[in-house]
Amino acid sequence: MNLLLYVFFGDTDFNSIRSRRVNSVFMYTSKFDKYSLGDEHPFKPYKATMVYELCYQYGLFDEPWISIVEPEPVGQEAMLEYHSREYVDALKDANGGSFDFTLLEYGLGTSDNPVFKGVFEFSLLVLGATLQGAHLISSNQADVVFSPVGGLHHAGKGFAEGFCYVNDIVIAIERLLKDGVGKVLYVDIDAHHGNGVQDAFYDRDDVLVISFHQSGETLYPWSGFENEMGEGKGIGYTVNLPLSEYTDDEAYVRAFREIYPPLVKAFNPGCVVAQIGLDTLKKDPLTNMRLTNNGYCEVISEIRRSCPKVLALGGGGYSVPDVVRGWTLAWATLNDLKPHDPYQGLIGGALVGYGNSVDELRDTPYRIAPALKKDVDRYLDSKISFIREKIFPVHHIA
Ligand SMILES: [Zn+2]
Repeated sequence: MNLLLYVFFGDTDFNSIRSRRVNSVFMYTSKFDKYSLGDEHPFKPYKATMVYELCYQYGLFDEPWISIVEPEPVGQEAMLEYHSREYVDALKDANGGSFDFTLLEYGLGTSDNPVFKGVFEFSLLVLGATLQGAHLISSNQADVVFSPVGGLHHAGKGFAEGFCYVNDIVIAIERLLKDGVGKVLYVDIDAHHGNGVQDAFYDRDDVLVISFHQSGETLYPWSGFENEMGEGKGIGYTVNLPLSEYTDDEAYVRAFREIYPPLVKAFNPGCVVAQIGLDTLKKDPLTNMRLTNNGYCEVISEIRRSCPKVLALGGGGYSVPDVVRGWTLAWATLNDLKPHDPYQGLIGGALVGYGNSVDELRDTPYRIAPALKKDVDRYLDSKISFIREKIFPVHHIA
């Protein structure tokens, strides 16, 4: 591991590490711990610290080509690259933590998006982490970046929504394009449809937006149906694969392998931005999918293989200890590393709170019962057929 924590200030340049070859970067600062959306709120920014610690524990920062970069908040101008001035002003007004009825117009002060102390600073920090990651990629200082607190895919241009106050993804994609990485492919494996990102690029053909998610028939944000496929020159550049409740590893991985690799190959992006939310797990309290981290890691592996440059952003995931294990495995997978536990056997193999051994980073494999499976497969087959029929021809995929 590179033991230095590099500190970046806003958009200043990166001379301090330009002379070094940085291949893989984990964006982390303990400052995320300062912020809380409330004790009862499912979104926990401190997840980042837990993932950081568990990765450290398992030796996943030990390679010389891996760095940990400490992000700094960006200035509010960066937020204005996508969000409206009125919304940014409202978010700034909310920073003190006191509610005002005028904020509701911007989606602020709801139970999903509570006003909390430092909400504006927190948003600038999340955005800072994602944009610094994007810059490391576009300036060829990194091939793979993971920012666990990024990936706020529901935020709209003029409003907060679905636990998301800033759409760091949209702003990062625009910057990557501007910085000349080539076309950008956005893939979203969060259990919820990536509606905010879809809206931003719906009529564009320079960004291919692919979202796999629990169907809008049964889950917020009630969108992401297969026939939402872009407009104007963007037709065929928005791809939605809604999945039924109870979708398990086998069905999910099959869907991913049938849809994702041919589209990546045809689109040939210069960078993949991946929102790798882990609320698809069967233990997640907010959704009704049946994945384990075994299927999830298969998908992470496909994403890593698909492009030399990958910006991975955390997103959702509300069964916190399970998400922490899953993202630790995701970091290992992104770097083609096997986690190793230096304490195994020394203290009875016990790692308090996380299980007993490396093997326990992995979930027990799980398959849904045959009666449910039949319905899941039928639903899935019809969605895959739709995409093959309507979207693949746009990209000349036979
Ligand atoms: Zn989600």
